[in-house]
Amino acid sequence: MERKVRVRFAPSPTGGLHLGGVRTVLYNYLFARHHKGDFVLRIEDTDQTRFVEGAEQYIMNCLEWCGLIPDESPENGGPHVPYRQSERKHLYKDYAELLIESGHAYIAFDTPEELEKMRAENKRDDNTNPQYDQRIRGLMRNSLTLSAEEVAALIAQGTPYVVRIKMPENETISLTDMIRGEISFDSSLVDDKVLLKADGMPTYHLAVVVDDYLMQITHAFRGEEWLPSAPVHVLIWKYLGWKEKMPLWAHLPLILKPDGNGKLSKRDGDRLGFPVFAMNWTDPKTGEITKGFKEMGFLPQAFVNMLAMLGWNPGVEQELFTMDELVQRFSMERVHKGGAKFNFDKAKWFNHQYIQHTDNAVLAGLVKPFFLQSAPEAIQVSGEILEKVVGMVKDRCHLLTDFWEQGHFFFVTPEIKEMAVIKDKWNDQKQQFFTAWITELENMSDWNHDALETGCNELAPKFGLKKGDVMLPLRIMLVGGKFGPGVFAIAELIGKEETIKRIKSITG
Ligand code: GLU
Repeated sequence: MERKVRVRFAPSPTGGLHLGGVRTVLYNYLFARHHKGDFVLRIEDTDQTRFVEGAEQYIMNCLEWCGLIPDESPENGGPHVPYRQSERKHLYKDYAELLIESGHAYIAFDTPEELEKMRAENKRDDNTNPQYDQRIRGLMRNSLTLSAEEVAALIAQGTPYVVRIKMPENETISLTDMIRGEISFDSSLVDDKVLLKADGMPTYHLAVVVDDYLMQITHAFRGEEWLPSAPVHVLIWKYLGWKEKMPLWAHLPLILKPDGNGKLSKRDGDRLGFPVFAMNWTDPKTGEITKGFKEMGFLPQAFVNMLAMLGWNPGVEQELFTMDELVQRFSMERVHKGGAKFNFDKAKWFNHQYIQHTDNAVLAGLVKPFFLQSAPEAIQVSGEILEKVVGMVKDRCHLLTDFWEQGHFFFVTPEIKEMAVIKDKWNDQKQQFFTAWITELENMSDWNHDALETGCNELAPKFGLKKGDVMLPLRIMLVGGKFGPGVFAIAELIGKEETIKRIKSITG
């Protein structure tokens, strides 16, 4: 019988969630939905030295913001609780023991100093980075070199020990990767990785196999940096007698720097001025805040659509997809083998598209927090006005943060940044025109776009001016610069008093 598709995102809660991580979540989610399967969130927190306060909650917040909610998780529970590896500690030891009993793993007592010494002593031209492997294990203090009595005595004395896998010699270990096809490894080149640490916690290598097995995971997607450890995992599946149940792996390509030179890092984001984390991450130790896509003004749907396309080919020209369309079309085989270059302008293009397609009332709600941040005192304004403003300037906005820049003059008197444009071509006719127009405006009973435009158009020729002669100065008086929607629409919305005030502040 076909097994029900079950996939998992298994982050270690160590800090901000990189966009590569979100893409892994997304591919898991799309694959699960496409196959009507389950999507599990498992927190891999067995490395106590890397534990970071708040990181788990942060990951869940990111998933929620992206709309990629797991079916099973530490928060929501599920049939395989607990979903946090630190709470599953008691489970792993038995499997490590089974591996010892079958001769595929062994106990090692070497202290950190002894390991250091081994590395220093065995460094040679043909072995620049000596590892605990088949060449070395015979020289160390472990259950392969010590007698059973010595091992028992050391354990009885409470000597700390780890459990290591015993990698076979000269074996070819193969696996079928959904993206890369058949991959083979030479077992002799892989070291005897630690499976269980001295504190009784499993390492990733043991925990990932045991949990993927117990949680009945059918497909496992992870970053390609895990490819070198894959042979260890394949062997553990085999040695525990579970090979038939091993998930199908997909090692996802890296997200690269914009120039294609290596993995995109947080530092690249800082350097080039774009975020690499989904949401703002505050380092609990230093208090340092790293900007996220959310706080930079991205819509989650745009962020997700952009990520879907970063390394996956939908097979059609279309670039904008709803989540439902992505679910329908998604297939792991269409994920590229090579890394995908991150392009911030393209990310902004996606956001711009989503902004245009978002209903103005919804957009107003999304933009408001950014307005409040920029000028809390300015937003004593009805939702209705904000909605109108948003509708008028949205075609100029790529980020939600752009709305303030593009629309602040509707709420606050703008700073006139382009005074020179007015002053350079100022003359008596213009002075007289604006003075006369102000009088007309003061007497205007029907304050609306059309009346304003007609009045202005009829008055200008009386002073020997063309429409174009007065529009630019008027724009700068109302907006502060050479941008923004139609001037009469702006005047209509800011109202009579404010319009006259802004004109007078220039004409005197
Ligand atoms: N805990 C691993 C990480 O954070 C997960 C790798 C996997 O998905 O198996 O990278």
